[in-house]
Amino acid sequence: MSKRRLICERTHVHDSFQEALSKTLPILKRIRQGFGPYPTASVASLEKLKIGEASISLAEEPSPGQPSHASADWTFEALRGAALACVRCPHLVRSRTQVVFGVGNPKAELMFVGEAPGAEEDAQGEPFVGRAGQLLTKIIQAMGFRREDVYIANVLKCRPDMPVGAPGNRKPTPEEMRTCLPWLEKQIDLIKPRVMVALGATAVEGLLSAATPVGKVRGHWLDFHGIPVMATYHPAYLLRNQSMSENVKVWEDMLQVLERLGKSISEKQRKFFTKSDS
Ligand code: URA
Repeated sequence: MSKRRLICERTHVHDSFQEALSKTLPILKRIRQGFGPYPTASVASLEKLKIGEASISLAEEPSPGQPSHASADWTFEALRGAALACVRCPHLVRSRTQVVFGVGNPKAELMFVGEAPGAEEDAQGEPFVGRAGQLLTKIIQAMGFRREDVYIANVLKCRPDMPVGAPGNRKPTPEEMRTCLPWLEKQIDLIKPRVMVALGATAVEGLLSAATPVGKVRGHWLDFHGIPVMATYHPAYLLRNQSMSENVKVWEDMLQVLERLGKSISEKQRKFFTKSDS
């Protein structure tokens, strides 16, 4: 082996070691701080990480700042495979059961984007399967679609970690959302939805990098790389606040979405929240 090649290989090993170290150290630090249980990973996640089995090498992962059109040569399945093996947020890799990539028709004309997986989504590997998800499914059906006709994803693909024993979920941090956004950008690039719906303030923030109260932007058309985005309330907000007026607002937003898609709207859909006289 030439001296030059030997130096190159040593440099490569050194870089790989440094990269592994930079991912391991924060995890060890958090264990010392007593933040959570020892690192665990499902057998399925580990299988995906086996050398040679991940369909895309980490070097080919989308990187923040890379223009989204760079995904032109990705297939949807290759993107899913790479995302499922993502290790960009070591703290989330440690706490997650699995990456929740997204679900639905990869050629959907309508795409819903939520915040992040909760406990049930983390366990099942599918977004919006808990109580908020069941409400979202009802909204989708009332619009005249089946859940499998549309595409559903989140701005963060791993469940945000929680201190041991703490109940509920936490909002993803701006940094977590920024780190994860390239996956969503590439997903959107491949699906090419005609219209998107951002569910709640965090989804709007994650997509558009602008923290805005959802009450201010809902009902208005926003833009994500040329795709019209309707911002509306998150279904979890509707579960907490069951007033008719908030439900009506979301439904009005969805009627705008149907109009934008050129769908005919039935009388029943128009009067969904109007009480019948009988
Ligand atoms: N809330 C979200 O924003 N996404 C999910 O997948 C589930 C609940």
